[in-house]
Amino acid sequence: MWYRAMPVVLAGSLACGCAGSVHKLPSIDSSSLSLAQTEVQSGAGAPRRHAVSDDEVQGALESALAKIRPAATELCRQMAVGVCQWRFAVSRDRSMNAGAGPNGLIVVNRGIVEYADNEEEIALVIAHECGHQSGNHLAVAQRNKMIGAMIGAVLLGAAGAIASSRSPYNATITRAATETGGQLGAAIGGISYSKEQEREADYLAAVTLYRSGVDLDKARGFLVKMAKASGQRETGMLDSHPAGPERLAAWDKAVAEIRASNGALPQRN
Ligand SMILES: [Zn+2]
Repeated sequence: MWYRAMPVVLAGSLACGCAGSVHKLPSIDSSSLSLAQTEVQSGAGAPRRHAVSDDEVQGALESALAKIRPAATELCRQMAVGVCQWRFAVSRDRSMNAGAGPNGLIVVNRGIVEYADNEEEIALVIAHECGHQSGNHLAVAQRNKMIGAMIGAVLLGAAGAIASSRSPYNATITRAATETGGQLGAAIGGISYSKEQEREADYLAAVTLYRSGVDLDKARGFLVKMAKASGQRETGMLDSHPAGPERLAAWDKAVAEIRASNGALPQRN
């Protein structure tokens, strides 16, 4: 049945711009966006790095994880689409970033602890990565990458075939163009879906923190920090995570929804 399933997946992904998130997420209005913009531009500038020992990094991560793990695991089981058994690792990387990998792997850079001002901010980062696992974003991202690669390969492959139709090396040139197109498509496919998944990971993080009794307003400080630092290359977080006022405005909207619903999940897509 594989050969029948594939065209359906393709059509669905192309028709619906919302692909990539499990739930329907709130939209941001322009007034909350401009409020967030003002907040990011005002006050202190770039975030400050604190000196921490390896033991302190380990201790801070373990303590924050212990607070949110039960609620995060329960949320994952409630959604019932992702990997809910996680393995946590600390990276020596000093940039303000973290990531989710295959088979429940969650990696947090020591830079997260260096920049965090409190445990709530660290909890937000860990809960965000748990959200990627719970939403099965990894599998979806891989599938979207594959679809993107296929589209790219088909388009550039066809163009290459036309351009080189008079060449004696026709077949070779076409194959080279197809390979390039595949890589390009994979990159585009990865980017176009990740924004929605990032927003869902933030939403799931907010639900997790709410259910864990972690102060959402204190945790929010990390998003302000990321927004302020987004102009700086040193932090490296723009590589895989969206920063800036838009993310902050989406967080505020999510938190308002979650408080009103007493920690419920939104409707599914
Ligand atoms: Zn993320």
